[in-house]
Amino acid sequence: MDNLVALAKRRGFIFQSSEIYGGFNGFFDYGPLGAELKKNIRDCWWADMVQRRDDVVGIETSIIMHPKVWEASGHVAGFSDPLVDCKVSKQRYRADQLFFSPIIVTGLEGVAQTIGYVSALESENTAGELQAAAESFKRKKAIQGTLSPVVAKDLTEAREDEIALIPSPATGEPGSLTAPRAFNMMFQTNVGAMTDGSSVAYLRPETAQGMFVDFKNVVDTGRVKLPFGIAQIGKSFRNEITPRNFIFRSREFEQMEMEYFIHEDADWSKAHEEWIAWCEAWLKSIGLPDSHLSRYAHPKEKLAFYSRGTVDIMFKYPFGVQELWGIAARGSYDLTQHAQASGKPQEIFDETTKKKFVPHVIEPAVGVDRIFLAVLCAGYAEEAVTDDKGNTEVRTVLRLSPRIAPVKVAVLPLLKNKEVLVARAQALYKKLQRRYAVFYDETAAIGRRYRRQDEIGTPWCVTIDFDTIEKPGDTFTLRDRDTMQQRRVTEAELFALLEEQVY
Ligand code: ATP
Repeated sequence: MDNLVALAKRRGFIFQSSEIYGGFNGFFDYGPLGAELKKNIRDCWWADMVQRRDDVVGIETSIIMHPKVWEASGHVAGFSDPLVDCKVSKQRYRADQLFFSPIIVTGLEGVAQTIGYVSALESENTAGELQAAAESFKRKKAIQGTLSPVVAKDLTEAREDEIALIPSPATGEPGSLTAPRAFNMMFQTNVGAMTDGSSVAYLRPETAQGMFVDFKNVVDTGRVKLPFGIAQIGKSFRNEITPRNFIFRSREFEQMEMEYFIHEDADWSKAHEEWIAWCEAWLKSIGLPDSHLSRYAHPKEKLAFYSRGTVDIMFKYPFGVQELWGIAARGSYDLTQHAQASGKPQEIFDETTKKKFVPHVIEPAVGVDRIFLAVLCAGYAEEAVTDDKGNTEVRTVLRLSPRIAPVKVAVLPLLKNKEVLVARAQALYKKLQRRYAVFYDETAAIGRRYRRQDEIGTPWCVTIDFDTIEKPGDTFTLRDRDTMQQRRVTEAELFALLEEQVY
């Protein structure tokens, strides 16, 4: 992960926001290559989700909406995470990410006794860390007896009397943690010249409400028929208590969401499953390997009362298996809430039964930044390569799908001081540039130039060499990033390859 973060900075994918002022926790900037990669992810999603489907339309709604939207949706009352303070260190934790266990020792006389508590922040090995801390506690206190295996619970499950005994992860001492309390994650702002309570508005914490609030507008103007979807890509904002794992959890991020409306009598589980499968196939189409993807079905007892079911597509990040894409079956909850709060019915007329009804919805919601991180993690490799002289070196390569790679082709004249080579390379470069993001590089030895492109994920390099100029056919050397194989191609063949692979 450290190497990946270093590469992202060095090659201009991701910078800390406001870096010259020391950065700003939970905010990031995308540099020249990052902006290109992010745009490609968005464009592929939009093309596949909206343009290439007959049943989905796209919209773009405002970031700041009427505050009543967030009351009706339940966000004002309930969009919160459980927050725990350490009164000594002033650190804050999400209670559901802070784990603890009693340390239970059974003495010679067979009586089990709690001799203290251990705590650990959520990680890939939370139970292991708790166990090690319990063993070390017992050793330090020189307590005889058999230690029971730890049972990890998170702080939302702690009894009041236990909280005083659980050590703070910051100080290692008990007594400073507060009981968890709800912390609303919406960013507040004021709209208009007044800054009193009447002008309070929110930066949206999700894009989905835009689709619900515009549902009627789309139905009345968009020539849509059930089942159909409304999709949107845009920024969302959450005042996360513990932004972490690079861009995985940040305070400003971008979402790609789609609300798929179905008949109230339709088989929601079938539609749900179809959308989960669609999302998995889409992730693979932009290069994520099957081996890193899995599903997590939320247990029924943890679902919101209106929810029919939620399945998350999980991705194996270097810091653990985490949620990438949530696909929720939300019933008719959202439209019903807005109908009640606004007094405007959100119904559709059924031509067959001649009855009005509120459609149900399936919602696939994913973060662009989380996909960005996933493709970097899956694509990053350091591998030993041996050149034709027998020298071995390590090459860093980013195996990005041609669909999303920030640069599709690098055009390289073999020598920069040979005008015929440069002229032919420039002509090809200009022609490619009309359709694709391409890069022209004439500095350094050809091997070094290939390495530079490998590191930023460019799928192909074309070298204009003496054979191009001197031999018939006007062919170039096409070098493949992954196999490092070279072959000769014509300009027409190069364009045909791009046409097939970059879509
Ligand atoms: P988490 O449990 O990780 O906080 P969530 O279940 O609250 O996420 P949703 O509200 O379902 O997330 O949001 C939909 C998608 O938006 C997530 O699957 C994720 O890809 C993305 N997302 C949510 N919060 C963040 C964040 N703070 N930073 C980056 N992406 C996010």
